[in-house]
Amino acid sequence: MIVVGAGFSGLACALALDAAGVEVSVLEARDRVGGRTLSRPLPGGGWLDLGAQWIGPTQDRMYALVAAYGLETFPSPARGASTLRLAGRSAAGEPAGLTGLLGRLDALADGLDPAAPWRADGAAEWDRTTLGGWLAATVPDPVTARYAGRLLAGGLLAASPDEVSLLQLLFYLRSGGGTGSLLGMAGGAQQDRIVGGPAALAERMAAALPSGSVRLAAPVDAIVQDACGVRVRAGDEAHRADAAVVALAPALAGRIRYDPPLPALRDGLTQRMPMGSAFKVHALYPEPFWGADGRSGVATTDTGPLTETVDNSLPGLAGGVLTAFSYGAQARALRRLSAGQRRDALCDALAALFGPAAARPDDLVEYDWSADPWTRGCFCGILPPGSWCDYGPQLRPPVGRLHWAGTETATRWSGYLEGAVTAGERAAAEVLAGL
Ligand SMILES: Cc1cc2nc3c(=O)[nH]c(=O)nc-3n(C[C@H](O)[C@H](O)[C@H](O)COP(=O)(O)OP(=O)(O)OC[C@H]3O[C@@H](n4cnc5c(N)ncnc54)[C@H](O)[C@@H]3O)c2cc1C
Repeated sequence: MIVVGAGFSGLACALALDAAGVEVSVLEARDRVGGRTLSRPLPGGGWLDLGAQWIGPTQDRMYALVAAYGLETFPSPARGASTLRLAGRSAAGEPAGLTGLLGRLDALADGLDPAAPWRADGAAEWDRTTLGGWLAATVPDPVTARYAGRLLAGGLLAASPDEVSLLQLLFYLRSGGGTGSLLGMAGGAQQDRIVGGPAALAERMAAALPSGSVRLAAPVDAIVQDACGVRVRAGDEAHRADAAVVALAPALAGRIRYDPPLPALRDGLTQRMPMGSAFKVHALYPEPFWGADGRSGVATTDTGPLTETVDNSLPGLAGGVLTAFSYGAQARALRRLSAGQRRDALCDALAALFGPAAARPDDLVEYDWSADPWTRGCFCGILPPGSWCDYGPQLRPPVGRLHWAGTETATRWSGYLEGAVTAGERAAAEVLAGL
């Protein structure tokens, strides 16, 4: 069996196939495994997670893998008060009507089947309604609408509110257990980190596969299938197998050439599921100075290039790390700046949230996932307005001997590491059932 891609989805798929006694080859384009996870060591000890970093309750497969591969988790810091800036000013308490709004979205999402959101009553209308339009029509206070749009479209889907449909958001809420679960730190998706980062877990998962079964620097460019099997070409090499699992985001799966060509709707899906636009940057300071005035390092705001920050300082180390996120149009605007202009814009935005000390980090560390040819954006692929009902049903059904994995195909925790793992295991089960 061939698995294309050694992210969490491809690795989980390969491990499940291997455990069932199936010989498996994983073909990975990069010279490393882990896909959208990547750690960088810090000079004074510790590491930065440049890609995915958190896991949280109900992400049971991820916790099980952490334990099975001898790693540990530690909780996100939970001390101090969070910072809120609205309309350019410090604000106390949440924006007017936010709790009611989130409750309303959760109630709408509850009625959805995460395996077939297109079947919900109202799905067609929600699919053609942008989240931005819905918020403008539903939320009387424009500041709350703007804040909620940035937090939900941005923080969850890495897009601007007008780039995503209400149906895409409702699917995501249903898939990740609702707004409390998705937005929360303790008790939510941002509860825990993995010692050494998720990239360390990916390396251990790959090492558990039979020696030689993961081939790095093997970008797959063509897959041919016929009555006898599949032939997968990676540069000069050709690999043969009974079937293949493509464990890539649809946008990247669409860059492979298929013979015979994919059915129109499946190819249409790959044309219509762009990767999100998230910009994650770590600001390194000699110490976590925000704690001295009782602040947690968690900040959210409805204005400026950044939408949110968290304290990513590591326990037991002196240095302070504020990690900031920008999404959608704001993230793309940051990318258009020169490195120097971007640094100035980021320092100004951090200072607006945490005062002048934040304007002088020792270093700012970023990674451009949208420029990386093997990811092309993050956190995940999203179906834009008007696309879910026609193209969503194409996410999982195999095409002949080709099976589809990747977090985008998950029904629970889609977009997350957990979704990547369960999607890989679902694809492995599909393959095994067909053998
Ligand atoms: C900045 C950032 C922050 C995030 N934060 C979190 C978080 O805190 N918690 C969380 O759960 N999730 C988070 N995510 C999302 C999470 O990283 C993804 O959901 C998950 O890693 C997806 O795994 P995957 O295996 O489906 O895809 P990928 O990780 O993208 O793996 C696909 C693999 O296929 C390879 N590949 C691509 N094209 C080819 C080809 N043609 N041939 C061969 N190989 C190919 C790629 O190199 C890659 O290794 C974050 C992502 C980013 C980037």
